[in-house]
Amino acid sequence: MFERFSFHPFIIEALHHLKFHKPTPIQERVIPAVLRGESVIGQSQTGTGKTHAYLLPIIERIDPHVEEVQAVITAPTRELATQIYHEVLKITKFCPNDHRITARCFVGGTDKLRSIEKLKTQPHIVIGTPGRVYDLVREQALFVHTARMLVIDEADVMLDMGFITDVDQVAGRMPEDLQMLVFSATIPEKLKPFLKKYMEHPTHIHIAPKQVAAPAIQHILIPLRHRDRLQLLHDILVSYNPYLAIVFVNTRKTADEVANGLIEKGLKVGVLHGDLTPRERKKMMKAIRDLQFQYIVATDLAARGIDIEGVSHVINYELPADLDFYVHRTGRTGRAGYAGMATTIYEPSDQHALVKLEKKGIHFLHRDFRHGEWIELDAWNGRKKEKKDEVEQLVEKIAKKQKKVKPGYKKKLREQLKKQRAKKK
Ligand code: ADP
Ligand code: MG
Repeated sequence: MFERFSFHPFIIEALHHLKFHKPTPIQERVIPAVLRGESVIGQSQTGTGKTHAYLLPIIERIDPHVEEVQAVITAPTRELATQIYHEVLKITKFCPNDHRITARCFVGGTDKLRSIEKLKTQPHIVIGTPGRVYDLVREQALFVHTARMLVIDEADVMLDMGFITDVDQVAGRMPEDLQMLVFSATIPEKLKPFLKKYMEHPTHIHIAPKQVAAPAIQHILIPLRHRDRLQLLHDILVSYNPYLAIVFVNTRKTADEVANGLIEKGLKVGVLHGDLTPRERKKMMKAIRDLQFQYIVATDLAARGIDIEGVSHVINYELPADLDFYVHRTGRTGRAGYAGMATTIYEPSDQHALVKLEKKGIHFLHRDFRHGEWIELDAWNGRKKEKKDEVEQLVEKIAKKQKKVKPGYKKKLREQLKKQRAKKK
């Protein structure tokens, strides 16, 4: 409950309107620290509510009767700064008449003279990009020497974009006892000297990502490429040298063929399919539990409902006709917290099915096994897996953080970033 922070009633009212019922984990810990006046390094994944972790206590601590800048919030892009500004307004619009809090946003690409004009009165809260904020400070239009709170949001991006020097200039003009609040998904080593310079004993709040409920399964695709399927399967199995692998096939006939083929090639193989008598089946299950086999060949129906422990690898000799079975099959590995591996041999005719599986959220790694060696391939659907360059990675990262990405935004951002970098060099 937000009530426990004893915020002003207008903040509680705003939170009701935002439909924020309880603080997120990072808010839970950052809010009290900021209210106490501590410098904070807040680290958590994107989307965990870092913005309000600092906004709420900052707004709480503003003295509306002192007409000075009391907090400066910096973000790496115009869009992010603007977004934060709008979040501030959504709260300050609930300020009662005797408690008016003002905020203003300063970003590049807007009329600077108009900004200067408006700065005849100083806002309580300044939000902006480091470049423009510093610019206005240098112009002696914006007075930050009164501000005791400084936020550096997306600090890792700030560093990557070379904005830390501008932030440094702004911070250097603020009071000695500055309360600095730094937020980032990661805290890169290179950022640490800067943090040390301004923060003596920061409170470091790190919310680790939640463990994923299901243990991770690696999904691997191997193209058949006109090779002998049984030989390829054999080579893969030998290379994996699994604790216990289940090879899934679609029919009883194939199950027998594959099992016999592998046995001929010298592997110890058990087989599970619907043609087994209850007695044979029971015997087979016991042998599997006693770990008499390293490999089991099975059809979907035979494998259904039986719990075999310790399956380290699942191999799809062929994709199942019903794709729900892909999930059932691969779900047999990676249990009880152990990582599992699901490997599928595929052909061009499987493309449609693979697209469907990807839509279900399965991410495939594309590999080949040739001449006794594993080889990483480009993405199976033809997308190059070449590494994106740094600017491209930044563009993706920033775009992901913003809720609304307008058409052409990435292109604009890319150009902006390139220019920025050229300037820094
Ligand atoms: P981060 O900065 O950690 O990436 P944001 O501050 O952008 O995350 O918040 C992500 C989303 O969660 C936003 O849409 C925000 O409005 C929402 N949010 C933040 N705090 C809460 C809360 N306490 N309850 C519900 N939603 C919240
Ligand atoms: Mg954020």
